[in-house]
Amino acid sequence: MIEMYGVWKVYENGNDALQNIDIKIGRGEFVYVVGPSGAGKSTFIKLMYREERPTKGQIYINGINVDKVKERKIPQIRRNIGVVFQDFRLLPRMTSFENVAFAMEVVETPRKRIEQRVRELFELVGLEDRMDAYPDELSGGEMQRVAIARAMANKPSVIIADEPTGNLDPETSWGIMELFEEINDLGTTVVMATHNRDIVNQMKKRVVAIEDGQIVRDELRGEYGYES
Ligand code: ADP
Ligand code: ADP
Repeated sequence: MIEMYGVWKVYENGNDALQNIDIKIGRGEFVYVVGPSGAGKSTFIKLMYREERPTKGQIYINGINVDKVKERKIPQIRRNIGVVFQDFRLLPRMTSFENVAFAMEVVETPRKRIEQRVRELFELVGLEDRMDAYPDELSGGEMQRVAIARAMANKPSVIIADEPTGNLDPETSWGIMELFEEINDLGTTVVMATHNRDIVNQMKKRVVAIEDGQIVRDELRGEYGYES
């Protein structure tokens, strides 16, 4: 469902971020993307949700070439991919409920359906009692749960996360990782860049290691493979 063929990314300033990436990620897989800082993990992830475009090569999500779609169809692609960031990126003037509802409003979901779905989502992430709180009233772990609810709002087939536990303490990180596992068990594909060695080593999922813009390792029940 996610395919890359001969993908290169050279940034405008000449930075060579990715070279000749070939990969297939099947429906329902859970993939950790690991590697040193500056290796190209974020770029790899940004190409998937079309935040960046490849300099060369093809990227398909559910059979659609994401680099060839017409501008007006990009929202449709993005709707099918939920994205979770290290810094949460919640809208500060909206409650948790409104942050999640907003993701459905922009794709013109009927109000009644939104109410129902948002409640369902807060149950999924275990925050039913925090729906009316503003982001600055939430802990980091709670903010990330809201961000995950938002990413799941439109029932995407893929969740992409760039260091989602990077700002969280180890215990909170485990809770967030278990939530991603639950989401994956429900059938959503998960692709996650992470520096969280302990979690990767214990979860025994597929691990793709990127170094200097190239995939240097791709193991089905892999390990983190770096000291820190
Ligand atoms: P990682 O996520 O593994 O830390 P990145 O994908 O962020 O790696 O970066 C890969 C390389 O591309 C690095 O050399 C980085 O400096 C460069 N890079 C990332 N984003 C940009 C950008 N917007 N413009 C120019 N160079 C960039
Ligand atoms: P991450 O690796 O988590 O993406 P970074 O701190 O590397 O975080 O990057 C933060 C932002 O700066 C990203 O949007 C990235 O694209 C951009 N960036 C990273 N490296 C460069 C660079 N060398 N030149 C320009 N922008 C960059």
